[in-house]
Amino acid sequence: MSLDDVLARIDADMPAATDRLLDLLRIRSISTDPAFKDDCDKAADWLVEDLQSLGIKTEKRVTPGHPMVVGHIDGPGPHLLFYGHYDVQPVDPLDLWDRDPFDPAIEDTAKGRVIRGRGASDDKGQLMTFIEACRAWKSVHGALPCKLTFFLEGEEESGSPSLVPFMEENRDELKSDIALICDTGMFESKVPAITTMLRGLLGEDFTITGPTRDLHSGMYGGIGMNPIRVLSKILAGLHDETGHITLPGFYDGVTELSDEMRAQWQGLNFDHSAFLEDVGLKAPAGEQDRTPLEQIWSRPTCDVNGIWGGYTGDGFKTVLPSQASAKVSFRLVGDQDPEAIRANFRTYLEANLPEGFTVDYRTDKASGASRMSVEDPAFEKARVALSDEWGIPAAYVGCGGSIPIAGYFKEIIGTDAMLVGFGKDDDQIHSPNEKYDLESFHKGTRSWARILHALSPSS
Ligand SMILES: [Zn+2]
Repeated sequence: MSLDDVLARIDADMPAATDRLLDLLRIRSISTDPAFKDDCDKAADWLVEDLQSLGIKTEKRVTPGHPMVVGHIDGPGPHLLFYGHYDVQPVDPLDLWDRDPFDPAIEDTAKGRVIRGRGASDDKGQLMTFIEACRAWKSVHGALPCKLTFFLEGEEESGSPSLVPFMEENRDELKSDIALICDTGMFESKVPAITTMLRGLLGEDFTITGPTRDLHSGMYGGIGMNPIRVLSKILAGLHDETGHITLPGFYDGVTELSDEMRAQWQGLNFDHSAFLEDVGLKAPAGEQDRTPLEQIWSRPTCDVNGIWGGYTGDGFKTVLPSQASAKVSFRLVGDQDPEAIRANFRTYLEANLPEGFTVDYRTDKASGASRMSVEDPAFEKARVALSDEWGIPAAYVGCGGSIPIAGYFKEIIGTDAMLVGFGKDDDQIHSPNEKYDLESFHKGTRSWARILHALSPSS
C-alpha cells in the first residue's frame, strides 16, 4: 500500500482535520470537576462516533468514573494498541487566558501558527494526530495497514482511578503486540523522540519524636536532644560530596546505558547550562561522574521535598520541639526495587535515632521504573519513520518523571509502550493559554501515517 498517497491526503485534508480538532476542543471535558461529568461523556461520544465513521467497531464503556472509549479494527499487520486521553485539566485562573479556553481558534504567533485552547496539546491535539493518520489510510486504501485497538481514557488528568481495574478486567481484549501512546513531546522542542525510559517514584513521609513535649532551651538546651538536629543530620547523610546516594544497596538494580544509547544521547548536544540557567542554577548537582542527561533520565535520585518542625512563626521562640518531620522522595531507574529501598531507608533512619526517639511513617505508594525493549525492531522502524518525516535523526530519550500508563501496559497487559509525542516545551499544558503548533499537528499526523506504514507487513 502506497504511503505517498496517504501523506498527500493528510496534506489536503489539513483544514478539515483542524476543524474536527477545534470541534473536540469545544467540549469542556474537565475530568476532575464533577460539574463537567456530562461534558466528559460528550467527548467520549464524539470519539465513538468519529472512530465508527472510520469503520472501527467502537464502544463507550462504563466505569465508576468517566467512560473509556474502546475500538477495534482488523488489519494485516501486527496488533497495535493506541492510547490517548480525552479529558483535560481545569482552566483556572481564567483571567490569565487571552481567550475562552473552550472557544479554541487558530492564531498567528511569532513562532508560527498555533491552535489555542484547553487540551490543544494535552491530549486532544496529540490523540487526533493518530486518528487523522488512520482516517487518511482508510480513505486512500479503504483499510488500515495494521490491526488496531483504540483505548481512550477520560480520567488521566484526575489520577486515572478506573484505569487499572478496567485494564485488569479487559486484559484479554487489550492484549496487543505494542502500545502506542501520544502524550509526550519533542526533545528540546525540535528533535522527534521516542521515550523509552521512565523513572519510578518512591516517597517517604515521616515524623520523628524525641521529648514528650516541646521544651524551653533555657531549661533543657544542652541536655535535651533536639529532633530537628537529629533529622538534619539524617537527611544530610543521604548524599556524599560527589552527589552519590549513600543508602546501602541503593544502586542495586540500576542498569547501565548501552553504548549506542550513550552515543545517541551525546549526539543530542543537550545544553545543560541553558537548562539550569533558565531556573537560576549553575552546576549539575547529581552524580559527578555522570553526564547531565544521565542525571535526569537514567540515574536514580534522592530529594528532600519538605522539612518542618519547631517554631516558624513571626518573632522568636526558644523551643526544643518534641517532633520534626520530612518528606523524602526517590526517583528510581532500571530494576531498582522500591520496597527494598524503602526498607533500607527505614533501617538507616532508625539506626541514626538517639535512644528513646520514635518514628511514625505515613506510607505513600511506590512504583518502579519502566524501560522499553528497544531491541524490538518496531522501535527502530518507528525511529526511522520519524527521522524521515522531520528530516533529522529521531532519538530514543528518557523521561525524568513517571508516566504510569506505560508501566501498566507492561505489568497488566504484558505489552511494551512506545511513547511518541509532538508536544513542545512552550505548549503551556495544564496552564493558561495552552496551544499546539499547527506544524506539530500536521507533521505529527504524517509521522503516525509513516509509523503505521513502517510497522505494517506490506511496507
Ligand atoms: Zn496528557
